[in-house]
Amino acid sequence: MTDVLDLWFDPSRCLINGNWVAPAGGRHLPLHNPSTGERIGSIARGAAEDVDAAVAAAHVAWQGTWGKTTAVERGRLLFKLRELVLEKVEDLARIEAIDVGKPLKQARADAIALARYLEFYGGAADKLHGDTIPYLDGYTVYTLREPHGVTGHIVPWNYPMQIIGRSVGAALATGNACVLKPAEDACLTALAFADLAVKAGLPAGALNVVPGLGAEAGAALSAHPGVHHVSFTGSVATGVQVQTAAARNVVPVTLELGGKSPQLVFADADLDAALPFLVNAGIQNAGQTCSASSRILVHRSIQDRLVQRMAERYTALKVGPALADLDVGPLISARQQGIVSSFLDRGDDLEKVAEGSFQDAPEGGSYVRPTLFAGVSPSHTLARDEIFGPVQVVIPFDDEDEAVAIANGTDYGLVASIWSRDGARQLRLARKIRSGQIFINNYGAGGGVELPFGGIGTSGHGREKGFEALYGFTTLKTVAAYHG
Ligand code: NAD
Repeated sequence: MTDVLDLWFDPSRCLINGNWVAPAGGRHLPLHNPSTGERIGSIARGAAEDVDAAVAAAHVAWQGTWGKTTAVERGRLLFKLRELVLEKVEDLARIEAIDVGKPLKQARADAIALARYLEFYGGAADKLHGDTIPYLDGYTVYTLREPHGVTGHIVPWNYPMQIIGRSVGAALATGNACVLKPAEDACLTALAFADLAVKAGLPAGALNVVPGLGAEAGAALSAHPGVHHVSFTGSVATGVQVQTAAARNVVPVTLELGGKSPQLVFADADLDAALPFLVNAGIQNAGQTCSASSRILVHRSIQDRLVQRMAERYTALKVGPALADLDVGPLISARQQGIVSSFLDRGDDLEKVAEGSFQDAPEGGSYVRPTLFAGVSPSHTLARDEIFGPVQVVIPFDDEDEAVAIANGTDYGLVASIWSRDGARQLRLARKIRSGQIFINNYGAGGGVELPFGGIGTSGHGREKGFEALYGFTTLKTVAAYHG
């Protein structure tokens, strides 16, 4: 299989008001294949002027054709778009594998998840409703769920299709007009999605896409006074900048940031069931996952057994080009490879128990070996900081209280899991652990399109996915009618 991109759309353009247009400044950004390091094309370098045009088009759509569609019509449009996505699953998977470097099977799962988001939000579009509220005599009071208007979506490079599905899918279902700023390192499937949306019949301006640099197009979108809501997924530092910019317009923001998510393994855990989840949650997408489980907390009595069994899995991991479809692909870029390698260097004082091996990994690709460290102190930088690479640390604990204290010992709070057969412990810890999601005897099984997702602390705020996202992408109007 060659790494040649076979695109049916022009990646060097922006989608504004239903038209594929060159960026106003006429500038472009290079596109690299992280599996080989080779340059494979160019994308538009959209900036403030393009964002202005996109927001203006979104306003017209929201106040015009798109704003007049009924919920059931929006749902049907999303179903149509889902069909087109499903027809293109293999193309989308291949494009994503080449662009992002994720193994083909993981990229295929992302494309299928995108279709599932469209199905979920298409089906939910006409299920969202307000309430009637008992009030004073002579009054009828009810609430209306209305779209914010124009929503901005700033998306990272790690799961473009899934994040577009969960945020743009929910925003369109509720009648918002969207301006999407994909990541400069991975915007091809965003453009493919937009092309399919046009083909599905989405009215001009309901979805606009402006690729470009974060500091240019992203900053312009988050600060734009014409945007009514911003959905941001990415790093904590950028999330703070986005929220600060949006605050000047007093606009609500959803932040989906990073994590240092723990899995707690007790002595009574079913290790056979736990093992695939323990390792996969650390190495999937080469660890470049906000909900990656980078900390494995284990009861000291079973530490040696658990480490030995995790090490067997690590030693078997094969790392290579995305299209070879091995266990782990390259990181997104040489820059990210540098960041992860420097974390690995800082683990020199730790017990490195196992690592994966390269298999026909080209010299120019941005590869690192998946690495497992054991006996790590919770205060070590590898146990505290988000690495965003295929690296896990095993941290021993002596009792339940200590396990909870370690689990809650970082500023993040995105996902945690509890592996134990003790039902009372499961329920107790599900309350005590500070986290947006708790899994009991699994870790993210089934993908969770239906499950509200988001963080606390520096993992962010607001919820996307599930029905909850529909509340986030709407505003509530209260109508109090006096009729005597
Ligand atoms: P980032 O936060 O810089 O980029 C995410 C998105 O924000 C991209 O579309 C980017 O163009 C945009 N952006 C960048 N600067 C902006 C600004 N000033 N205003 C508005 N938008 C801006 O993330 P990154 O540089 O791609 O990755 C750095 C780190 O972020 C990673 O190492 C990882 O820790 C974290 N990260 C987390 C997630 C997640 O899902 N939680 C995803 C990607 C990256």
